[in-house]
Amino acid sequence: MNKMELRYAKLREKMDELGLDAIYVNSAENHLYVTDFDNPDGYAFLTKDAAWVFADSRYIEAAKAEATSLCTVCLPGQPALLEIVKERGIRVIGYEDRRMTCAGLESLKKSLADANPEFAPVGGIFTAIRSVKTPDEVENIVAAQRIAEGAFRHIVKVLTHDMTEIEVAAELEYYMKKNGSQKPSFDTIAVSGSASSRPHGVPRPVKLEKGFLTMDYGAMVNGYHSDMTRTVSIGKADDEMKRLYDTVLKAQCAAIDAIGPGKKNADMDKLARDIIDDAGYKGYFSHSLGHGVGLEIHEDPGLHGRMGDAVLLPGQIVTSEPGIYIEGKYGCRIEDMVLVTEDGRRDLTDCPKMELLEL
Ligand code: ZN
Ligand code: ZN
Repeated sequence: MNKMELRYAKLREKMDELGLDAIYVNSAENHLYVTDFDNPDGYAFLTKDAAWVFADSRYIEAAKAEATSLCTVCLPGQPALLEIVKERGIRVIGYEDRRMTCAGLESLKKSLADANPEFAPVGGIFTAIRSVKTPDEVENIVAAQRIAEGAFRHIVKVLTHDMTEIEVAAELEYYMKKNGSQKPSFDTIAVSGSASSRPHGVPRPVKLEKGFLTMDYGAMVNGYHSDMTRTVSIGKADDEMKRLYDTVLKAQCAAIDAIGPGKKNADMDKLARDIIDDAGYKGYFSHSLGHGVGLEIHEDPGLHGRMGDAVLLPGQIVTSEPGIYIEGKYGCRIEDMVLVTEDGRRDLTDCPKMELLEL
């Protein structure tokens, strides 16, 4: 089975389980997942034995060239979805409740009113299937990560204290694009000095402040994201900064070493959090330990206390990204991506972190 046949087999198994006759796919990432074609403004329709990709005149040529041969490529309305539904006696249609707007669903219902099918929310089946990566998906994520690591080596070389936070972000993004990234994985974070206490701070047009500089960014290859964070020191780091950095590093490494199949997601978070709390920073690690990464920058599974009894599965890729943030002072985060394997884990990030770099 090739990768697309495998995806269809998994989706159709879920369709059987849930009693669905078809799935209407409208989100960009799931559209890419089921058609192998990236169209931000099209939709796909999958039944138990056929699939269609509907692309308008702006995208139809690319769709014909790129979409999987398992799909029939057509212009919207040629044929009309209503005809397909009627001809095939489709009774229950799954829709992406997590990614469809209320207006989108209303309009879909209206267009199919003559066939009067039932609609079932099924966004969860995509997140569950996509959370376990196939080797080709891991390859894309690793390729994106290698580009991001190159950008780190680059910024360490070219960074000067005269640069602004926005320039640092721009250097990272320019390097990644020149080296094969489709686009930044998300809005690059580069925050220094007092702004480094904002976990998702926005780069400012101000010169780098002394203290921590936190850079959280990623590249994209074939629609797949990467995600990494490195924190460096602008100028000499004092003892308190070193202690804080070492605490985050210890928590981050301990969580990575504990990751493995069958391990509880919530336990990974607790392990890292306890280390930070015990070092005297209780309450300053203000977000969860990690998240899945794939066609979306944040996807299943999460690594946090609200995961109940959920356990990690081989093939899942999660981040380990603890941080300590002291409002008005500074903050620090270190983030790697980790693949859960059959017998443990593989850290997909290959970028120095064991020493706090002083630049
Ligand atoms: Zn990140
Ligand atoms: Zn992350």
